[in-house]
Amino acid sequence: MNSTTTSAPGVVDVIGVGAGFTGLYLAHRLTTAGWTFAGFEAGPSVGGTWFWNTYPGARCDVESIYYSYSFDETLQQEWTWSQRFAPQAEILRYIEHVADRFDLRKHFTFDTRVVGATWNEADRLWDVHLDSGETRRSRYLISGAGGLSTPKDFDVPGLANFTGLQVSTSRWNISLDDLAGKRVAVIGTGSSGVQAIPLIAQVAEHVTVFQRTPNYVMPARNSELSPEQVESIKVDYPAIREECRHSLGGIPERPVTDKAFDVSDEERLRRYEAAYELSGFNGVGAEFADLITDIDANRTASEFIHDKIREIVEDPATAELLVPKYHPLGAKRSCFGTDYYETFNRPNVSLVSLRDEPIETMTANAIVTSSDTYEVDAVVLAIGFDAFTGPLYGLGLTGASGQKLQDAWRDGVRTYLGMMTADFPNFFMVAGPQSPALASNVVMSIEQAVDWIADLIEHARDSGATLIEATAEGQNDWVDITEETVAPTLYATTDSWYRGSNVEGKPNTFMGYVGGVGKYRRMCTEIAKRGYPGVAIDGEALSRNLGPIHQEIS
Ligand code: NAP
Repeated sequence: MNSTTTSAPGVVDVIGVGAGFTGLYLAHRLTTAGWTFAGFEAGPSVGGTWFWNTYPGARCDVESIYYSYSFDETLQQEWTWSQRFAPQAEILRYIEHVADRFDLRKHFTFDTRVVGATWNEADRLWDVHLDSGETRRSRYLISGAGGLSTPKDFDVPGLANFTGLQVSTSRWNISLDDLAGKRVAVIGTGSSGVQAIPLIAQVAEHVTVFQRTPNYVMPARNSELSPEQVESIKVDYPAIREECRHSLGGIPERPVTDKAFDVSDEERLRRYEAAYELSGFNGVGAEFADLITDIDANRTASEFIHDKIREIVEDPATAELLVPKYHPLGAKRSCFGTDYYETFNRPNVSLVSLRDEPIETMTANAIVTSSDTYEVDAVVLAIGFDAFTGPLYGLGLTGASGQKLQDAWRDGVRTYLGMMTADFPNFFMVAGPQSPALASNVVMSIEQAVDWIADLIEHARDSGATLIEATAEGQNDWVDITEETVAPTLYATTDSWYRGSNVEGKPNTFMGYVGGVGKYRRMCTEIAKRGYPGVAIDGEALSRNLGPIHQEIS
């Protein structure tokens, strides 16, 4: 069927938010299926995360051959990645290539932010308010605003006093040369800080790293891809993609079934050494099946990394501050760096532990902690994001009962499959909270979610329906499933942006589904096959609990 459902003048079938990996695939998938689509993007061009995060060293830590679209065989055959972990500029070039190749830019209005969206029950349409002052209407509203796109506020007292250069990794608007010869403070040691610090240290007169919580940083082991490696991937691309679709994290994984204490201490150490030579999410944290569920097993892997840090960092006091002793390996997002710990051996790099000396204020040219004053010319903020809910609340959604999304989620996020939420009909989230996006190769998760949502709205269109909404029961089931899935893991016990604990006052609920992208995909497929239990379509819903379906699926 190729006709649209929404024929009123000025109304489109779908409004999509964002022109990153999600928005572009949404535009392609939906317009190909005959829907009218209008996308709005706050930035001046395509790219999303990869448009904004241009800080030195920015690159993906999921290998590019996997962190790319799989929906078109010709696309994946004609694009060639230069490195295992492509830098930001190359990822952005790829996204631009996709936009041009499929002629997708014409579906978007750039430099335009969605600032409000109100459900109109009588017309069964979304009124979508733009920062241009205009209002556009659509049957469906789909967020591709991303999970890590709203920078976290930095509310250090005295920040406004600082008159030197101030830049954030997530809105980088200077060149690395601007930091040359300067005394630079970097605040934050998550994935962004870890990537930026070694490069800033190469040009700055001095770098002072202000660290609150030390992280596990494994060597990224990036390398150029040889023509032979590229060829071997391309020959097998469809099979590789299929393996990713049914994996845990959306990348090919080493099959690991034994537990850390199934082997001798010597054997365990030998295996950790071998895993340390691998890069990325198949490394040490994936060496045994129980590392993310058993704290004692995890300790063996954590302590292995602690020892690596002590081997690399020459000054024992600095090494001890860098050792991540406040959380288990993998329970909070691990980082993959290049020369990160080695950078602390440079004479122009020093470390301040904010746990020992918190920042008290800032002056025109200094950061003042409880024990010292650090004069600096520039401050780099690498303090992270208001993950998942930040971008969604930024849309200013008002649902069917007149409630704002932030009020509906006042006590914590509640979704159906991480894609819908009750009382917000015809609204969908791609890579949303309680989906596997948090702990997966997100491009693969995006494609799966877009396809599932497209199938659902096509299913409704085929029966002449115009109203799709998660039921309260369906949503409760999914919340229970996500909580039951995370409960036996160490994620459940660790403060991190995964749980919202990096943002003051945010309810502490785990914001992902950690049962694996393969299981999630099969669950979503099964739900569609069974007629979408937990979803009311034109007010009709199947009364079938999701829990037993989740249990049946391997
Ligand atoms: P992040 O992981 O949340 O790290 C933020 C850092 O800033 C933490 O060290 C945090 O300390 C510190 N911080 C926050 N507020 C602070 C404050 N008020 N005072 C002092 N320190 C403060 O953020 P991110 O590094 O931007 O990374 C976020 C996520 O983006 C990553 O986990 C990853 O998923 C994604 N990312 C991926 C890549 C990649 O693919 N390589 C690169 C960049 C980002 P605490 O830990 O104590 O809160």
